Amino acid sequence: MLRVRPEKIARMSDEATTPRMETAGSDGHGPRDQSPREANKDERPSRAEVSNFEIVDHWFTLAADRLEIRDDVRAVLSSSYREVQVQIPASLSDGKIHVFSGYRVQHNGARGPYKGGIRFHPDVDLDEVRALASLMTWKTAIANVPYGGAKGGVNCDPKKLERGEVEKIARSFMDKIEKVLGPTRDIPAPDVGTNAQTMAWLMDEYGKLHGHAPAIVTGKPIALEGSYGREAATGRGVVCMMEQAAKSAGVKLNGASIAVQGYGNVGSWAARLATELGCKLVAVSDADGAIRNDDGIDADLLHQQVSEGRTVPEFEDADAIDPADLLATECDVFIPAALGGMIHEANADKVNCKLIVEGANSPTTPAADSILADKGVFVVPDVMANAGGVIVSYFEWVQNLQHFRWTEEEVNERLGNIMRGAYEAVADRAEKDDVSMRVAAYAIGIERVLEAARLRGYLTDTRVPAGD
Ligand code: NAD
Repeated sequence: MLRVRPEKIARMSDEATTPRMETAGSDGHGPRDQSPREANKDERPSRAEVSNFEIVDHWFTLAADRLEIRDDVRAVLSSSYREVQVQIPASLSDGKIHVFSGYRVQHNGARGPYKGGIRFHPDVDLDEVRALASLMTWKTAIANVPYGGAKGGVNCDPKKLERGEVEKIARSFMDKIEKVLGPTRDIPAPDVGTNAQTMAWLMDEYGKLHGHAPAIVTGKPIALEGSYGREAATGRGVVCMMEQAAKSAGVKLNGASIAVQGYGNVGSWAARLATELGCKLVAVSDADGAIRNDDGIDADLLHQQVSEGRTVPEFEDADAIDPADLLATECDVFIPAALGGMIHEANADKVNCKLIVEGANSPTTPAADSILADKGVFVVPDVMANAGGVIVSYFEWVQNLQHFRWTEEEVNERLGNIMRGAYEAVADRAEKDDVSMRVAAYAIGIERVLEAARLRGYLTDTRVPAGD
């Protein structure tokens, strides 16, 4: 049996991962926010104070140190190739013009066209999009699909907008960033707050300017050359990783209890597919609250109700719990599938499971990761665990470029093969180097990007010379 030891990382505070400018606000411009909203912040924040970028940069730096990458090469790999910020003014139903900010960050394209989702969420900012773009570079490299890394987003709240308003924002965003996109340049996909319908609008808008080009976005509806299996792909990949890691984490999947944070695309698919394997869903949360039922929650029924517009806490056959207590639910497997920074220094100690499979991007801060390692919790990191989405996006793109279609069985089988291969490669590397799965995964990703950059002639020597 392969047993991968969680790496001991010197315990550090979330506040201390990267030096912060004391006098600057979160956007780096002007003084910190002293408003009552900030001053009255909960002592147990639901999300970490550490930024998404600091989280990704921390893991990159740790892996780059082990690989002895030169500082000038690191500077190339840790910064973005291109960052686009656009203004999206939209007249909404209140009769006013609202100004949103849209971002597209292309991090590294050494291995192929840029690839990454588009998020519609009020917290979207440049720091978050930058971090997620960089994560995509390492993720596509670890999964070994021929893409670089990118991400985009608009700081709007689709839950508070009418359907026509979301469409207007999506089309306007495409109009403003289309020049840096293209089926062989940069290919967006869904993320938090966007879905197949959003992709259909983006494809249509791009088509008005460039002609019909389904390969411009992935995660499209099936009727518009989307791929079978794409909608479920990230959740299916998470469950595949759970199966791979179960033995090492000492979890017997048949009858294993699972808790899921976030019941959108990733969380609900992961929960439904895990229950098909015989797991019991005991606790779930969404942005509106959390529920628990130790006898099991019907994952399909919950999904059906959520897709009809109800919230998770409105589900009747379970008890409402404080969302902050979701992490403390005793279970075998915990699947974070909401936002970044949800498991942090102030709450990681409460985690009460054997295995965490990170469906969300950057759900665990570095400080929390060390607490989990001390507690002996086995973690399958985001950078490999949630790669199922981009893998099937790759399949969708390949099908679009050739205008043919694979069956769902073919897609799922190919997805499983790639996910299992990635798990094995990372687990072997973690054992060989005696490091955590996360550091091993980043090391593999960085090496593959460096190899592509070297072969293209962008970089020559990358390692610190002996004696330096
Ligand atoms: P989604 O918008 O479909 O669902 C997000 C879910 O999180 C919703 O249920 C929402 O209510 C919940 N949520 C938001 N704030 C919360 C909070 N404070 N506490 C608990 N739940 C909260 O988004 P998604 O596509 O399922 O993405 C979820 C995560 O997975 C994100 O981190 C995303 O970047 C990552 N991811 C998504 C994909 C994909 O293919 N969709 C691929 C890789 C990674």
